[in-house]
Amino acid sequence: MSSFNSPVPAELPERIQHYIGGEYVDSAGGATFDVLNPVTNEVYIQGAAGQKEDIDRAVVAAQRAFDEGAWANALPRERSRVLHRIADIVEERGARLAELETFDTGLPITQARSQGKRAAENFRFFADLIVAQHDDAFKVPGRQANYVNRKPIGVAGLITPWNTPFMLSSWKLAPALATGNSVVLKPAEFTPLSAGLWAGIFEEAGLPKGVFNLVNGIGEEAGDALVKHLDVPLISFTGESRTGQIIFGNAAPHLKGLSMELGGKSPAVVFEDADLEAAINATIFGVFSLNGERCTAGSRILVQRSIYDEFVERYAAQAKRVKVGLPHEPATEVGALVHPEHFEKVMSYVELGKTEGRLVAGGDRPEGLESGNFVNPTVFADVPRDARIFQEEIFGPVVAITPFDTDEEALELANDTKYGLAAYIWTNDLKRSHNFAQNVEAGMVWLNSNNVRDLRTPFGGVKASGLGHEGGYRSIDFYTDQQAVHINLGEVHNPVFGKAD
Ligand code: NAD
Repeated sequence: MSSFNSPVPAELPERIQHYIGGEYVDSAGGATFDVLNPVTNEVYIQGAAGQKEDIDRAVVAAQRAFDEGAWANALPRERSRVLHRIADIVEERGARLAELETFDTGLPITQARSQGKRAAENFRFFADLIVAQHDDAFKVPGRQANYVNRKPIGVAGLITPWNTPFMLSSWKLAPALATGNSVVLKPAEFTPLSAGLWAGIFEEAGLPKGVFNLVNGIGEEAGDALVKHLDVPLISFTGESRTGQIIFGNAAPHLKGLSMELGGKSPAVVFEDADLEAAINATIFGVFSLNGERCTAGSRILVQRSIYDEFVERYAAQAKRVKVGLPHEPATEVGALVHPEHFEKVMSYVELGKTEGRLVAGGDRPEGLESGNFVNPTVFADVPRDARIFQEEIFGPVVAITPFDTDEEALELANDTKYGLAAYIWTNDLKRSHNFAQNVEAGMVWLNSNNVRDLRTPFGGVKASGLGHEGGYRSIDFYTDQQAVHINLGEVHNPVFGKAD
């Protein structure tokens, strides 16, 4: 039992239920799972644990709504209006949303607030994009015209992780709904609280019942059943690379459309000519924001040897000043990790790091936070490339710093992991920055910048970090079929077989 002041939000539901065909329901078999408060690790609520039969019910409801066509056949402008209303409501409920998200995930409240704003922005973006959407048309004068029919696919299965769960689900929900599909969302079992808010928001905004369905539960049960369901032709998944491999295998026999956003171990490369102050501030934020539970975290910092000692000293000093505290307190910069299992995993890497690198900050619990999933921002210097803390995703406030001498060595080190999600490059040399960006194995590169993303750009990773890119019109492409229609304008153009002599 913890003595922390971690207020349970008022007016929580009695338990977390599924939302199927416009109704809140329990699992047909009554199964439940425990949901923990990350500050105390006490069970604060039960969630309905979806099984195959619950997924079946949700897919039937989603398919029925799709076939009825009220949403799938609505004009883009009508769908766009509903999406804008969704964004309005998300903005109006920002405070409540952040309160629940912080409580459920352990994310600092200030960061949960900005995630809520981003979720609204995702809906607005696709609301606008869907009315501006144009499709290809081609003409060969006098011979042929071609145009594209863009069609929603049917029931999309959306499987999301526990880091920034509300915002991350908006990445998938907004384009899937904008394009007229029905969906079944399976949120992460560590953090089911905020996803439940979507149901009320969608109802209020006027989304027809059955278009959005939500089944809670364990990945290997509810998630697995969704992936294997014959009437779900599309799966959009965000989570660990290992889970992605399993889902890829399970979807293969059904030849499903797959989009996968997976793990990362992204490099932040700091050259000697960089603006050091800006680079330190950005690389501190890049790995310690969102508790380090961030797929695009710059968790390997590569620093040119001429500035290495100064960088390490200043970086460690600043990391020690990062404020770890209770998630709901506005001054907190790093909150509580999401779950005791994840905390154990992060702490085991911290212990390993002590044998693989030189500990220069953190490595322990913060004073005064003796229980719950708190860990001090932890910095290891002189980390060799074959160290596990250099190679493996830790997904917590832990960073590895490694020196390099030349551009070639920096590139080799940057590319020397199985992942390829993001890369951050700090230099004032124009040629170096663009050439490095070209050659680094990463789906997304930021030059002299933190992770600030224009929603029109592609999002995704290469190598073990993902499959396919979403973002902007690429998301529209993923959630639709593009049917090509060819019209003959001239002579019928083919050799005549079986011609009479
Ligand atoms: P996870 O893979 O454990 O779980 C993700 C989701 O998949 C959960 O909803 C889970 O219940 C479900 N799941 C688990 N096993 C399944 C199975 N066999 N079949 C179907 N569904 C299954 O990941 P996590 O621990 O929740 O999230 C952290 C990971 O997500 C990190 O690796 C992180 O890098 C990654 N991530 C990637 C991005 C990105 O955009 N690339 C963004 C956020 C998080």
